[in-house]
Amino acid sequence: MNVLSQIQVDLNAVKRNYLTIKSRLPYEVKIMAVVKNDAYGHGLTEVSKALFSSGCRAFVVANVDEGLALKSCGINADVLVLGYTPADRLLDVYSNGLTQSVLSPEYARILTDSGLKLKVHVAIDTGMNRVGLDADNTLKCINDIKDFAKHLEVEGVFTHLCVADDPMQRSFTVGQIDRFRRVVEGLGDLNLKYIHCMNSAGALTLPPFGNAVRLGIVLYGLKPNAHIVLPPNILPAMTWKTSVCMVKTVKKGESVGYGRTFIAEKDTRIATVCVGYGDGYPRALSSVGQAVVNGKRAKIVGRVCMNHFMLDVTDIPFVTQGDAVTLIGDGLTADELADKTGSIGYEMVCNAKGVVKVKT
Ligand SMILES: *Cc1c(COP(=O)(O)O)cnc(C)c1O
Repeated sequence: MNVLSQIQVDLNAVKRNYLTIKSRLPYEVKIMAVVKNDAYGHGLTEVSKALFSSGCRAFVVANVDEGLALKSCGINADVLVLGYTPADRLLDVYSNGLTQSVLSPEYARILTDSGLKLKVHVAIDTGMNRVGLDADNTLKCINDIKDFAKHLEVEGVFTHLCVADDPMQRSFTVGQIDRFRRVVEGLGDLNLKYIHCMNSAGALTLPPFGNAVRLGIVLYGLKPNAHIVLPPNILPAMTWKTSVCMVKTVKKGESVGYGRTFIAEKDTRIATVCVGYGDGYPRALSSVGQAVVNGKRAKIVGRVCMNHFMLDVTDIPFVTQGDAVTLIGDGLTADELADKTGSIGYEMVCNAKGVVKVKT
């Protein structure tokens, strides 16, 4: 681990973000906190405990091991495993009280063949074509789910919106919700505890449907899409810092870094910093990224290396070896940086590696 790559997670921001969104939703709508991928790089157990203490009683993880980690840190809540659990791990799902997603009719057979009365939520595919039962065939979909309920404990159904963040494609999203609604209407007698279709973008911009929402990115204070305006009080939870390891003046005409992609047009002060793509800092930010040094923005010059990159600090006086460099934070968001490379804040925070410290 690179001790000079330091990630600080503000758990009060996570809690505040949760409570802010909660207060905007109808009282009866449950928030399922999406804490997959180590809580989007923020630390699975710390974030989940903070949310649990704020009243959250439903969590969503990517795989069975994340589910076990939650249960073993004392989180007494519903935990939905979104991804595929292989047959030889289904006993872990069952004996730890996790809830498994049903990804397809074929997968439902694997689940029933286990002989375990597993708690499940059935995924309905309303147009994303990733996982789920085909909602276009409404009747078959309804009958399949009723059939699963003979062998499995069907506690929920859900679908996933693939363009909820794009107002230009609103009619597609409305169509997805309609297809989902038709399936849900056929399942009245199952008394489902969880009916959910909204991700952060949906919950922020659409009228609610169902009795639960699955919120990920907004809990971490980032935007589902660069164009969505977050409510006030939603603040990023992650700060990522490193240090300057060397400062030097590069003469006019000299180059910086691999590929010599930067040639100094004038004498330039260069600060080399102690994080690179090996720490999950995007190499795509070569020549286009920025970082904050002594409260001021500095531009990345040349290519991001595995363990370093270089900043132009000509206009920032008194930068010296050991100074702190903010990669994310101090007004510079993962969303802003990711947008420069056609990526999303999600990817940047998920990939950030370093020593994680939580601030409570
Ligand atoms: C990741 C994920 C979410 C959360 O999406 P956000 O945009 O982070 O709110 C919700 N549902 C499913 C199925 C997901 O995979």
